This record gives sequence, structure tokens and C-alpha cells, in this order.
Amino acid sequence: MSIKENIEKINSVKNAAARRAGRDGSEILLCAVTKTHPASDINEAIDAGITDIGENKVQEILDKYDEVKPVRWHMIGHLQTNKVKYIIDKVSLIHSVDSYKLAEEINKRAAQHGIVMDILIQVNSAMEESKFGITTDETDSLIEEILKNCPNIRIRGLMCIAPFAENPGDAAKYFRAVKEIYDRYADAPREGLDFKYLSMGMSNDFETAIAEGSNLIRIGTAIFGARNYNKIV
Ligand SMILES: *Cc1c(COP(=O)(O)O)cnc(C)c1O
Repeated sequence: MSIKENIEKINSVKNAAARRAGRDGSEILLCAVTKTHPASDINEAIDAGITDIGENKVQEILDKYDEVKPVRWHMIGHLQTNKVKYIIDKVSLIHSVDSYKLAEEINKRAAQHGIVMDILIQVNSAMEESKFGITTDETDSLIEEILKNCPNIRIRGLMCIAPFAENPGDAAKYFRAVKEIYDRYADAPREGLDFKYLSMGMSNDFETAIAEGSNLIRIGTAIFGARNYNKIV
């Protein structure tokens, strides 16, 4: 199947999952995850209607940035503080903020550019050792610390990567734990905080994520096929 056909299929599955949850599919943003894939494939996806793309490495954003058609770039992977400066003026949303140190650096670089950077807090609700993100218990204090000290950051929501499961339904409880936190803040916007995105769900588990309230799904494999990490992009 072509990239365009894959996107059409994802959109129809997304819309059906939304309907089952009593929601409208248009409320759920499809972010195409383009890591390891060349700019030509990304442009094909953009021609097929993709408006938002996600990368998990700073270097890949820099390598492809000039070749990719106008689109919103999302930084979805672990971000080292010393690399914030390279992407601060290129991405519209950073999904992976999981420490005050990183937020502080984003705030500093955003201030230098005279912008306010939109971020999500990455919550590792399954507390997997191998994953980045803070625990559900740490979320409130990180949010408060950022609100107090980072005027050039606007917190737009939360992101979660569920553990890989043979049965995607197993991810539901991890998504639900993050949705509970999300709802508390979504109902109470204030200066520096305006929740709009609950970023949950990948190729394997996005229907479950939508059932649990996700409104931003990050899909790579189901659009572009399997990744070959040895291939030079
Ligand atoms: C790679 C990646 C995805 C997409 O994963 P697929 O299983 O290929 O859909 C989503 N989110 C993050 C953070 C990723 O690194």
C-alpha cells in the first residue's frame, strides 16, 4: 500500500475509534512519525494531507528540515538540554519534557528567540525503567515549578508512551492514569498553562488510546512501514 493509502486507512480507523468513544475523529490530531524515513516520503505524506510530523532525534530534524515542505514539526523523543538550541525555532511542540532542567533550558532559548514554546510533559505511568518521563506522582510538582519560573513556556498537555503489549488493550490502564491528570488541568487553564493535547497512542495501540481519551496520536510504522535503522537517511 502507498503512504497515501496507509494514511487513509489510519484516518478511517481513527474516526471509527472516535465514534465508538462518542467523539468526533476531527478532534484527534494525526502526527506522522517520520524518524528514519527520507524527506521524499515525508513530502508524500504531506501531499496526502499530513499537517504534523514527529521526529525523535534532533539530528534528523536538522538533516531533513530544508527538504521537507511546510509542516508543523513535533519533537517527540528524549531531548538533551545541550541540543535544545538547535530546534527551538523549528518545532511547534515538544512532547518529551520530563525534567525541570530541560524546561529551564527550553525557557532560556525560547526567551532568546522572543517566543513562547509549547510543550507537553511526558508521563511514564507504567514506571518502566527503560523509558523516559516522570511518574504520575511527580507531575504536579514539575508543572508547578515550570509555571513559577518559565514564562517562555506554555504547557499544552501530557504525553505518554505505553509499554509494548501483545494485547494492545493492556495499555488502557496506563493511558487512563494519564488522562486523569490531564482532565484536572484541562478544566483549569491559567497563565502559562492551556491544555489542548493528550498525546497517546502509536501504531500498535492508538485505538486503545483513543478509547481512553487521546486527542493526538503518533503513528510511524502504520504509515511508512517498518523502520530500518541502518539505512542512512
Ligand atoms: C517511534 C515513535 C512513535 C511511532 O511508533 P510506531 O509504532 O512506529 O507507530 C511514536 N512515539 C514516539 C515517541 C516514538 O519514538
